[in-house]
Amino acid sequence: MKAAFFKEHGGVEKILYDDYRDPVPEVGEVVVRVRACALNHVDMLLLDGRFPPPEGLPHVNGCEVTGTVEAVGAGVKELDRGGRAIIFPGFSCGRCEYCLRGARTVCVRYGYLGAHKDGGYAELVKAPATNILPLPDAVSFEAGAAVPLAMLTSWHALVAQAECRPGQTVLVQAAGSGVGSAAIQIARLCGARVITTVGSDDKIDFARSLGADHVVNYRTQDFVEETKRWSGKRGVDIVIEHIGGETLERSVQALTRLGTLVTIGSHDTHWGRLDLRHVYSKNLRIVGTNLGSILELQTVLEHLADGRLKPVIDRVFPLKDAREQGQGAPRPVTLPRLLERAALRRPEAPAVVDGARRLTYAELARQAAALGRGLAGLGIGKGDRVLIALKNRLEIYTFWVFPDVQTKPGCAGRPGIHAKLHVVTASTERG
Ligand SMILES: [Zn+2]
Repeated sequence: MKAAFFKEHGGVEKILYDDYRDPVPEVGEVVVRVRACALNHVDMLLLDGRFPPPEGLPHVNGCEVTGTVEAVGAGVKELDRGGRAIIFPGFSCGRCEYCLRGARTVCVRYGYLGAHKDGGYAELVKAPATNILPLPDAVSFEAGAAVPLAMLTSWHALVAQAECRPGQTVLVQAAGSGVGSAAIQIARLCGARVITTVGSDDKIDFARSLGADHVVNYRTQDFVEETKRWSGKRGVDIVIEHIGGETLERSVQALTRLGTLVTIGSHDTHWGRLDLRHVYSKNLRIVGTNLGSILELQTVLEHLADGRLKPVIDRVFPLKDAREQGQGAPRPVTLPRLLERAALRRPEAPAVVDGARRLTYAELARQAAALGRGLAGLGIGKGDRVLIALKNRLEIYTFWVFPDVQTKPGCAGRPGIHAKLHVVTASTERG
C-alpha cells in the first residue's frame, strides 16, 4: 500500500509518500481502507521527535480515521467487509485496575492509533475490532474524521467532567482550535452560555457562527476582565482550557465560586502556575481529562448525524500532498513568538531587568522587532548568523529570533548551519 510515513525526525520535508508494509489483521483485528484522516497537533510532535513513536521508526501518523472495513481477522463476526467505519483511537488493556473500573483512558497500558501504532496516513490501517463503530450514512468520511480526538475530548470534558448544565456560563479558550470550536457547540447544546477567545478579529464572526455569545480578542483585550464584565462580575462556571502557561493561570481567575476548569491539553507549554488562594477559597475544581469513551463517541456521532453538532474542517487534500500541505501547518512556538504573545497579552508586565531599569514585555518586543528590521535593512535574513562586535567583545548570534523578517531563499530550515555569516558592529552605548 501507499502511505505517508517518516524514517527520521524533523520537519515536513521528512514525510515520504511511498510503498509501506500492508497491515495484516490478527485475531480480533480489523483492517480499514482509509477514506479520511485528520491532522492534529500531536502529529507534529511525533514527526519532530518531541513525542517519538514508542514503537520506533518508520512510523505512520494519523489518529482520527474513517473508512470502510477491508478485511477482518479471525474471531471477528459482527463487522462486514465494505461497511462504513470510524475508529476509536484509544487502546487499553482491559485488565488493569483502571480498565476494570471502567476508566479505560487512564489504562496503565494506554495507547493511541497513529502514535503507539501506525495510523491513518495510509491506504490501509488496522485496529482492534472492539475499537470500530459504524459511521452513520448522514456523516461524511471527512466530517467523521474530525470527531474522535477533538470533538470527543471536548464532549467528555464538558458533559462528563464538568457536568455542564442549562443556564451555566462557559469560557472556551481558542475558538479557532479543534477542541475550542467543538466545545462552543457542545456547551450550547447543553444549554449553557458561552464566552470564547480568538487571536484575531477576523475569527470573531466564525466564533459567533458556532454559537458563542461573546467573543474576546485576547491580543487586544484582557479575557479575565472581559469574562468578569460579561458575567456581571461573577465569573464563569466552567473553563475549557488546552493552552497551558499564562492562559491556564489566568483562566482560573475567570472562574466563579465552585467553578470547574477542565484542562485537556498543553498546546503552548506543559507548565502552568496556580494561585492556590483562588482554588481553596472559592472551592474550585481543576480537572484533567483525555479523550472519552466509545459510547460517548457514538453519542457524538448521533448529534452529528442529526445536524446538532458540526465539525469545522479547514481543508481537505489527498494523502500524497501531505508534505506540501504540511508547509502550512502552525508555526512552532519559538522564543520570538512567546515574546510576541507575552507582549500582546501582558504588555505592562516586567520581562527583564536591564541594569537599574525594568523592561516590560512590550518594550522588549519593540526592541527585538526594531533590531530585526535594522538587520533586515542590512540584507540579513532569518537563519543567517550574525557576528556582532559589541564594545568590548565579539559575539555570534544566529539570527532566527525575529518573526517579521522574511526568510531568504537558501537560508531556511537549519539556523546556523547553512546560513551566511554577517558581521555587524554595534555599540552598547545608549542613545
Ligand atoms: Zn488497562
